[in-house]
Amino acid sequence: MIISMKRHATREEIDEVRARVEHFGYKVHSIEGEERVVIGVVGVGDVAACLESIEAMPQVEKVVRISAPYKFVSKEFRKQKTRIRANGIEIGGDEFVVMAGPCSVESEKQIMQAAEGVAKAGAKMLRGGAFKPRTSPYDFQGMEEEGLKLLRKAKDVTGLAVITEVMTDRDVDLVAKYADVMQVGARNMQNFMLLKALGKCGRPVLLKRGLSSTVKELLMSAEYITAHGNPDVILCERGIRTFETATRNTCDISAIPVLHELTHLPVILDPSHATGKRSLVPAVSRAGVAIGADGLIVEVHPAPEKAISDGAQSLDLAQFEKMMRDLQPYVALWNESRKTQALAAAH
Ligand code: PEP
Ligand code: MN
Repeated sequence: MIISMKRHATREEIDEVRARVEHFGYKVHSIEGEERVVIGVVGVGDVAACLESIEAMPQVEKVVRISAPYKFVSKEFRKQKTRIRANGIEIGGDEFVVMAGPCSVESEKQIMQAAEGVAKAGAKMLRGGAFKPRTSPYDFQGMEEEGLKLLRKAKDVTGLAVITEVMTDRDVDLVAKYADVMQVGARNMQNFMLLKALGKCGRPVLLKRGLSSTVKELLMSAEYITAHGNPDVILCERGIRTFETATRNTCDISAIPVLHELTHLPVILDPSHATGKRSLVPAVSRAGVAIGADGLIVEVHPAPEKAISDGAQSLDLAQFEKMMRDLQPYVALWNESRKTQALAAAH
């Protein structure tokens, strides 16, 4: 249930509504806009009685029952798109944002070359894993804190914001010291202890869709982070597991408009993990721009043939630069379409 307060309701009036809701055994969570406060109601209780009682309060404008199992991330809760700021960049706003960099941080030379190259080509954020979730326990597991320090160094030199993966709730504080955006990998989409801890991390979170997860499950995981106090969640389609073996995963491109219909959160596309093949990355990226994703996260390595992880799907710096150039006309159309959507929303 979502309660919209009347414009300019006073603090006392808001508190009175909150108290009445809590009296019915529910928990409340409010989002305070400039003119209006919206109160989300979650938990188990007598919905009909609560709804009737709240509707009768004079300071309440409207009460809406939300049918979806996810509340705070649903479109019913918030109509306008959520814009997420990280190190001066806005995701979900008026600009198409590209995040790029290697799968793993491997050395100072590698991450500095990658950072300088992707910045020059127009990326706004540097990706790179310092903690790596690997299918085999014998594969490279990441440079851990040393890798985080190298990411910081690359940020200091290039000005790029940093996005990097956090794998356990125990590492949240450590990773938050270095990252502008905390990445939750596909394998951890339902690590609920991690999601709860990220609710309190004070940084935006990029939540990747699980290998075999539905859109609804992805939204329920986003709801965990939001319900625990952090509304800044970016969703990421990165391909799902199907019977198809021609690609590493199957890119569920329609999940992007599906998510835009269901949630106000920004949605980006990872064409690298979605395909597993460098040659397919530019085409799938174009599809991502055309279908209205809010951005891309792309694997780029200065020498993909030497990459410790995911070399086959990584672009080299020249390929990335070319891809960014080739995307420009698509991004220009994207900009036009965002302006049209903004005008339509204002009417
Ligand atoms: C990654 O971004 O390198 C990664 C491990 O991705 P995913 O969690 O989508 O497999
Ligand atoms: Mn990878």
